[in-house]
Amino acid sequence: MSKFASNRREFFSALIGGAAGLSLTYRAFGQNPPAPIKATKLSDSLAVMMGDGGNIGVVISPDGLMMIDGGYPERAADLAKAIGEQVDAHKVNLLFDTHWHFDHVGSNESLGRAGVKIMAQENVKKRLSVRTTMEANGRTFDPLKPEGLPTQEFAKGGKLTYGKEKIEYVHIPLAHTDGDTYLFFPGPNVLHTGDMLFNGMYPVIDYSTGGWVGGMAAAAEAMHKVGDAKTRIIPGHGPMGTKDDLKASHEMLAAVTQRLEKLIKEGKSVDEAVAAAPTKDFDEKFGRGIFKPDAWTKIAYASVVRHNQKS
Ligand SMILES: [Zn+2]
Repeated sequence: MSKFASNRREFFSALIGGAAGLSLTYRAFGQNPPAPIKATKLSDSLAVMMGDGGNIGVVISPDGLMMIDGGYPERAADLAKAIGEQVDAHKVNLLFDTHWHFDHVGSNESLGRAGVKIMAQENVKKRLSVRTTMEANGRTFDPLKPEGLPTQEFAKGGKLTYGKEKIEYVHIPLAHTDGDTYLFFPGPNVLHTGDMLFNGMYPVIDYSTGGWVGGMAAAAEAMHKVGDAKTRIIPGHGPMGTKDDLKASHEMLAAVTQRLEKLIKEGKSVDEAVAAAPTKDFDEKFGRGIFKPDAWTKIAYASVVRHNQKS
């Protein structure tokens, strides 16, 4: 048997075995039937997979693959198959979680069971270790099985070399959650933002685990300084982006934060804030995605109130 075939079989069987034992508390909220998972090559050693929960980065080296996020748990086997067929059939050696959300950590248990190292910011492990509620979508998630938990945690970030890629990873506190990390690849000039960017739509803000709209504005501003004008961006959700997309997102988030802070200071209720339409001038550009303007205003409002209570 060729090395290729043996690697490929090992890779699929580890993932398919894992998918069968998934916790039933995780359910995809995506389309039915689910979208096909499609790879786009960004360089000879970097690809992005779209169509399975959050966007997934794949770093290719002669020794194996690094995955950045892992989609939905119920699609872990589909994702593994798509990577094997469309990108490279080597084994995964390293998984990096950009944050704790279920549509990003869906390969943790299957890959962890196969002995794959899992890196994440320390709050990601904290959230994945316990039953965690996400009020923004009204759902509660059971802890991951121990084998799905990160095995290598960091506080602020660092640098790592995978194959020929030199990767910088940086934690930004209290943005979309309390454990978000972006990854920058200076070689191909690509920035993977995790869910600190929803490209072209109002973002999920997980205020139950430390996220808030002002923090997402600050994150967009910080990430805008990474790389240069030509940096290509893998957002957490939505199509590939540019620095202009990041700038537009920052302007929207900063303006809405400022307006909501003013309304809250004036004692306006959430319904009064919705009636004031603080997102109005941005709705055409951002209001056609996951959230309609009113629903998102409520989430952003709640995130400011929650943040103010803590600080
Ligand atoms: Zn998320």
